[in-house]
Amino acid sequence: MRLVMKFGGSLLDNEIKLNNVINIIKSYYSLNNEIVVIISALNGITDKILDICDHIKKFNKESLYLFLKNTEIAHTNLIEKIVLDEKEKSKLLQLISNLMNEFRDVLLGISILGEVTPKSKDYLLSFGERLSTPIVSCALNSAGLKSSYLNGKEVGILTNSHFGDAKPLMDTTKFRVHHKIEPLLKEKTIPVVTGFIGCDQNGNITTIGRGGSDYSATIIAASINADEVWLWGDIDGLMTADPKIVKDAIVLEEVSVSEALELSMFGSKYMHPRALEPIMDSKISVRIRNANNIDHPGTLITQRPSFTSNKIVKSITVIRNTALIDVSGGGLIGTPGTAAKIFDALAKNQVNIMMISQTPSESSITMVVKKQDIDKAIITLELNFLGKLIKRIDVSDNVAIIAVVGMGMRGIKGVAARTFGAVAKKNINVIMITQGSSELNLAFVIEDKNCEEAVNALHQEFIKM
Ligand code: ASP
Ligand code: MG
Repeated sequence: MRLVMKFGGSLLDNEIKLNNVINIIKSYYSLNNEIVVIISALNGITDKILDICDHIKKFNKESLYLFLKNTEIAHTNLIEKIVLDEKEKSKLLQLISNLMNEFRDVLLGISILGEVTPKSKDYLLSFGERLSTPIVSCALNSAGLKSSYLNGKEVGILTNSHFGDAKPLMDTTKFRVHHKIEPLLKEKTIPVVTGFIGCDQNGNITTIGRGGSDYSATIIAASINADEVWLWGDIDGLMTADPKIVKDAIVLEEVSVSEALELSMFGSKYMHPRALEPIMDSKISVRIRNANNIDHPGTLITQRPSFTSNKIVKSITVIRNTALIDVSGGGLIGTPGTAAKIFDALAKNQVNIMMISQTPSESSITMVVKKQDIDKAIITLELNFLGKLIKRIDVSDNVAIIAVVGMGMRGIKGVAARTFGAVAKKNINVIMITQGSSELNLAFVIEDKNCEEAVNALHQEFIKM
């Protein structure tokens, strides 16, 4: 098989874990598979760089030097323990030292300016993956395999210039990546590529959004027509519910791509929202796998689910820390374009709306947003619309969204009745409901304090039966 394997940062932060990763690659390589490896930044590095960028004024020179020193030590410690060949080791240490010099220059530069542009932020973020990836490649060489290190630019991932959330220009990217990777695979070399990073038409480094290494893996898989993408992390797979809430939640054997999209928005495995886009309409499937439990087959995400589960509902998921805003007033009735105006104003102020519903009388619109966005949302609504389009703004800031997800719900009568029946039996009040016409996801809002009880009741109703 031709496999693209991505390894998350939590699997790399000490030599035991890194050795485990090398052994996994080695064992699948020895089974005659062609393998391309995608690597994330070491655990916590991306968060730390983001923190520095977002609060650059808070960091003085000493604290930046300390951060740089710790970062360098984290990487060189790994190298000392894992790369045994002295010549290879000194070459790699030199590469890391060059990268660290570059990192220091950029970091000190922006700290003098006291300002981080989106472009320089992406440049800084790229060091996470650019530092971790060559270590894995070198460790593979050290373990007797042939491997070669490439960053996102070298491998050919071309994106637009939307720094921080850049989109790949897929046609050019496919062409370039194909031409870069194919010869390496032919000569039995394992390409080891930085996740998360691309470059724009002007040669600037871009990043493709948080959790972007999964996305890099699918972009590369689509470019070389891989058979499967394996996303290695530290969970067994997608689950029927959050195991912290439901004790007997189980791992899902197989889900469709559209179910996986719903689940990644809600569920325990955060996945980049566009990570499945490159493989849609292809034969490539994605498998979520646990590097600490390699006997477990994980969850297969596929275009054509073969496993015909008789379960109508696959998973019960929750988003907590959300708030509900209800705007009402006669000004909303029969006035085309009002919803657009409201959503537009909120979007311009970076408020992401997670759920929307409007009564047919058009006298009120209800929205759910993340709790952290609530102040921004209310200020925007007050400044722009209160007393004009809107008479009242009501807020409940302790709500949770529960979503019942499953392709099998489509066209089946009685799912809503069973859902709300189960919740009503627990005496829990439902505040708001939405269901898309795809019938893949029935979502509703309740008070957060009822969340555990509702999820368990639904798990019992649909999954444990
Ligand atoms: N290092 C990046 C992040 O933490 C990309 C990734 O890990 O997938 O978001
Ligand atoms: Mg990461």
